Amino acid sequence: MKKTRRALYTGPQDALALIQRILTPHFEVVWVEPNAEKLYSELVRCDVFIDASMKVPVSLNAISKAERLALVVTATTGADHIDHQALELRRIPLLTLKGQTEILSKLTAAAELSWALLMNCSRKLKSAFSHVEKGGWERTEFPGVMLRGKTLGLIGLGRIGSCMARYARAFEMNVKVYDPFITDAGELEMLPLDELLNQADVLSIHVPLNESTKGLLNRDRIERLKRGAIVVNTSRGAIIDEMAMVEALRSGQVSAIGVDVLEGEPEILKSPLWQESLRNPNITITPHIGGFAPEAVHLALKFTCDRVLKFFDLEGKS
Ligand code: NAD
Repeated sequence: MKKTRRALYTGPQDALALIQRILTPHFEVVWVEPNAEKLYSELVRCDVFIDASMKVPVSLNAISKAERLALVVTATTGADHIDHQALELRRIPLLTLKGQTEILSKLTAAAELSWALLMNCSRKLKSAFSHVEKGGWERTEFPGVMLRGKTLGLIGLGRIGSCMARYARAFEMNVKVYDPFITDAGELEMLPLDELLNQADVLSIHVPLNESTKGLLNRDRIERLKRGAIVVNTSRGAIIDEMAMVEALRSGQVSAIGVDVLEGEPEILKSPLWQESLRNPNITITPHIGGFAPEAVHLALKFTCDRVLKFFDLEGKS
């Protein structure tokens, strides 16, 4: 009798029915919550791992025990929680959404959240909400920054950075870009990083985390920012030196920051930015919700499951 393949899925449970509909009858689909112990114990019995959660590190140890594992596929662009080298050693392909331009152009949730954080900072929404909740009604405490005519500096002009550039144009902002891997940014002005830092009223970061971007916004570069700049980061926490950023927020060098990511997440209690956010209303943090809109997750997972079928040379049901 033919052995049934097993697909292990971790991610939003409401997408399980969709995955089952596409992968059955070729796979038995197993869902696990994003808990390391549970995930590792299932991984050893699976042929494919479908990850839409990114919460559990997929380490060398976990990979080396997963003897049947033939494919790892993520419904995300970033996959730095997965040990790429360990997969390479086993010749197990890792398919992410990176470079999948057609599907990515339809997934705007992370860009929309980035813009929401930007506007939250420019209009001091966190403080204003809490002021009203306490019965206050004093607008002079919340002077806003009008975006029209201001400069948005984008680090990274990929999928999310490009969306941000489009949104900024609707707000009549000037958009300037630093992305050393892009030669043509259309009508957008490209600048060396130091100049971008110097000119941006709002700096928004949209790059993958890798050796060249870890600590990209370090103390020295934070000091090169225009005084009072707003910073937005929905990429990865480790791209910013959090301690240096806290000091810049205290001194007014940075007026406000909105982030969807923290270094060390989901263990956030040691994060300097999180600690400072308890007393500094100019720090707004969301719990990595950028890409997490059910509609977007379902679109990404449908695409991901079709890739699984293609990899195993199977016919799908849509
Ligand atoms: P993308 O791959 O489409 O674009 C990344 C861009 O960064 C590319 O244009 C690349 O040339 C540029 N880049 C790479 N290294 C750089 C460097 N050193 N300096 C400047 N630019 C550099 O990725 P994307 O879809 O736009 O996403 C960006 C990042 O956002 C992802 O890597 C991921 O970590 C993060 N992300 C977060 C969420 C969330 O929920 N918060 C959701 C999706 C993506």
